[in-house]
Amino acid sequence: MEKNSSPTKKPQKHRPRAYDNALVRFYKPFSYAERRKAAEKAGFNVFQFPAEMLLVDLLSDSGTTTLTNEQMAEMFLGDEAYGTNAGYPKLVAQFEKTFGLKKGGFEFFLFHQGRAAEHALFSQLGKLVRSAVIPSNGHFDTTRANIEANSMGACNLFSKKLAGKTYSPFKGDMDTDALASVLKKEGAHTPLVYTTITNNTGGGQPVSLENLRRVRALCTKYKKPFFLDACRFAENAWFIKQREKKHRTASIQKIVHEMFALCDGFTISLKKDGLSNMGGALVIKKGSLFMKQFPSLVNALRDHQILTEGHPTYGGLTGRDIMVLVKGLETVVKEEYLANRVSQVETFGAYLAELGVPVLTPFGGHAVYIDVDEFFKGTKMRREDFGGVALTAELLSYGVRLCELGAFAFGYYDKKTKKEVLPEKNFVRCAVPRNKYEIEDLLYAADCIKELYDNRKKLPRAVPVYGRDLSLRHFKARFELVPLS
Ligand SMILES: *Cc1c(COP(=O)(O)O)cnc(C)c1O
Repeated sequence: MEKNSSPTKKPQKHRPRAYDNALVRFYKPFSYAERRKAAEKAGFNVFQFPAEMLLVDLLSDSGTTTLTNEQMAEMFLGDEAYGTNAGYPKLVAQFEKTFGLKKGGFEFFLFHQGRAAEHALFSQLGKLVRSAVIPSNGHFDTTRANIEANSMGACNLFSKKLAGKTYSPFKGDMDTDALASVLKKEGAHTPLVYTTITNNTGGGQPVSLENLRRVRALCTKYKKPFFLDACRFAENAWFIKQREKKHRTASIQKIVHEMFALCDGFTISLKKDGLSNMGGALVIKKGSLFMKQFPSLVNALRDHQILTEGHPTYGGLTGRDIMVLVKGLETVVKEEYLANRVSQVETFGAYLAELGVPVLTPFGGHAVYIDVDEFFKGTKMRREDFGGVALTAELLSYGVRLCELGAFAFGYYDKKTKKEVLPEKNFVRCAVPRNKYEIEDLLYAADCIKELYDNRKKLPRAVPVYGRDLSLRHFKARFELVPLS
């Protein structure tokens, strides 16, 4: 990273971005009242709200990256051939470089997004194993859904530090004592062990290299394959560099190589640290334990890929997407990019905390989480009033979009008892897109959140008027906002 040196050798208070705006889009102006009307029309469901009316869209960091001018330029070189388009060998070579894979030493399956790769892996694996349990430091919701849809069980072994209020550098770690006991008891039914980096379900918290090594050692001891869910591998490597003393002087590239040397294979959504708007992949190392234990799987996966995505050399992507990915995977491990990325999320989170808004700390690499139970503490809002949904609904009128991941998204309606079954966690997530916003945009969003926080006693309940009893209801439901009596 460049040293910020002035003649006095004192660092300046503010740090410039690592990039400037090569292309700019102006917003169409909308009033509070116009947005309010649109929010009502959308049933106060954030997913149904028109994006063009927003000023700061923190719904997701997935596929929302602003491309660099280099990526845009490469896009024009995209080759739309059906077989072995010119970008494909470049992408394979970039995977080797970024992840430290041996040339020709892995099976590469390209998909249009991460969950398609997961679906391939678990639907084919599900045919080969019975009553399986797949442990993880925290399965992402699509990973869990794909495991469960194929009659296997997903189990989360969150670090005990995750729930604690005290600072801990790697709250995303797997509880390795718990893993040891699962492998001891259920080892015969465990086809592989998974680690998500960073731990999205666990607040976007990073996983230490030491923890990855321990998990690998346990897998080796019990002869179990080890896979990574690698969506935010570069952000995770950045945290390792910052927080794990031994690796402070190592390059990000080297840390990434060390991380990936430990696994048998990985699934990845390239819509995150692939710095692209679309893409996913499954990689299985040749000669790995996984390959030895399931020798028929590679052919079954190829067939699955061809049936669902097309020829393996484009895998559900256009030749243009593939060129964008090559550049994205090259850029994402640059330290100036990562320093900027992670510190932007940190500055945003720290400002929210300074304003008194209850947020999870330390901040993860891609998002800041608002603790909804704390937010409404001392008001009449109950969890089943869906205060988190009401907060996101009200913010739409300010041009700010967040995502409720709590009582509504993770809870469900029990038709028998006619009651809500409430989840353990109750958050609203502010996910920060990559290379898209300047810090003022995020500070504006924080100011709006603070205004609603100051008026929390006056915030309404969100009453589902449609879709309460549907699966994946947060994508489909409609609400009315009703004053708290
Ligand atoms: C986004 C994500 C996925 C799924 O990827 P998609 O590209 O959205 O299908 C899987 N795991 C994690 C940790 C993710 O963040």
